[in-house]
Amino acid sequence: MDAKDVRKLREEALAGHDGRAAEIDKWSKDHGGAHHRVNRYASKVNPQALNALCDYIQGVLERVVLPDSLALLEILNYLRHYNFTETDEAGRDSSEFSLAVSEIEVALGHFQRDTAAALRYLVYRHSVKKNNRNYQVRAFPTFLYVEAALACNLMCTMCYQSDPKMQAMIKDSEKTMMDWDLYTKIIDEAASHGLCGIIFAGRGEPTLNRRFTDMIKYAWDKGILDIKFNTNVMKLTEKMVCDWLSMNAPLTVVFSVDAADKEGFEAIRLGASFEKVVANIEMFNRIRKEEFPDTPVRTRVSMTLFQDNQDPEAARKLWGSLVDEFTAKNARGEQSGSIYQNDLSGSPKNISPDVKCRVLFDRLYVWCDGKVNPCEDDYMSKLVVGNAYQSSLKDLWQGPAMMKMRLAHLNGKKNSCYPCNGCNGY
Ligand code: SF4
Ligand code: SF4
Repeated sequence: MDAKDVRKLREEALAGHDGRAAEIDKWSKDHGGAHHRVNRYASKVNPQALNALCDYIQGVLERVVLPDSLALLEILNYLRHYNFTETDEAGRDSSEFSLAVSEIEVALGHFQRDTAAALRYLVYRHSVKKNNRNYQVRAFPTFLYVEAALACNLMCTMCYQSDPKMQAMIKDSEKTMMDWDLYTKIIDEAASHGLCGIIFAGRGEPTLNRRFTDMIKYAWDKGILDIKFNTNVMKLTEKMVCDWLSMNAPLTVVFSVDAADKEGFEAIRLGASFEKVVANIEMFNRIRKEEFPDTPVRTRVSMTLFQDNQDPEAARKLWGSLVDEFTAKNARGEQSGSIYQNDLSGSPKNISPDVKCRVLFDRLYVWCDGKVNPCEDDYMSKLVVGNAYQSSLKDLWQGPAMMKMRLAHLNGKKNSCYPCNGCNGY
């Protein structure tokens, strides 16, 4: 089956997706908001440890004035009044400042190892939530998305990989894996700006990059405190899993699955084997339990709902027994299609005119060939702002191309940008 056939499959599936948004949103809300805690191996925040962290923050605030003192005060106030009966993860969109249970656990893990790292992590999580509401732009992005690999071993029906134009682009690309030299250049720069969050994501499968584990380790050794990646699980090996777990870093490993049964799973994740994915996740769990029971690594299943026959409740039951966290959310409306359809139909969609897309204010994507892009929805890089081989990320982040887009979005002119006009934004 080639990309054109997959595209057809996707279009058929989307045509049948009759807008379950309200139903899914209700399901999501009923199950605890953004992240549904299902089977956490560390399920309680330790009150003594939390108290020690609060005393430490208070001591710092009483001794010195820091650029982040006000943020720390808000964090301290939240932690001092922490509700220990809390069982659900806090949603990113809640109007009050809050921290998810997993964030508090990670902060306590950092605190045990390095008190300054714990403060840095908390301030970073605070800024994530503030940026999310206030469109503040910091001197350097809050997150960096790094594309370790452009290629993928699967061709999922909802993915960019199933766009024939994307396949043609991959075929013509000189680089389909990020070079080590480019990677260390961007991480060194990011670390010098105190970046805390890195997500290995983009348009391909990161475990295909031979040096992927080295990439994670390099970022962790450089002081990047929050490292997350998505994988389709097919290429996981025992060595890979042991290497990740032995870093003793609070990695978030997201297993990408979108269905609760073999038939549904393999109809979406073309090229994947349901049995292999389950076996590899079980292998991960066995190694973690037997050899690294105290690891701070967390696992999550992130399910995107884009067609009618996906059942989040059934998926939660199945995957919830295999991972620490389960999330299910609606694809962002037409995001489950291509944002470039303007090209095909000749008539601009001009959707969501009032959205001020948040990605322009908190993150940058670095593709494996060095291109720097504001988002991954624009997978053909029409919005590219420069190249990390030639420019610093800071210059690109603060440069005119990013500013022009931010201004358009802030001034209600999102749809003057192509392909933002075909995109719902974030
Ligand atoms: S595994 Fe991920 S990158 Fe690969 S085709 Fe599927 S969704 Fe796309
Ligand atoms: S509106 Fe869409 S295309 Fe534009 S920056 Fe946001 S995510 Fe990217």
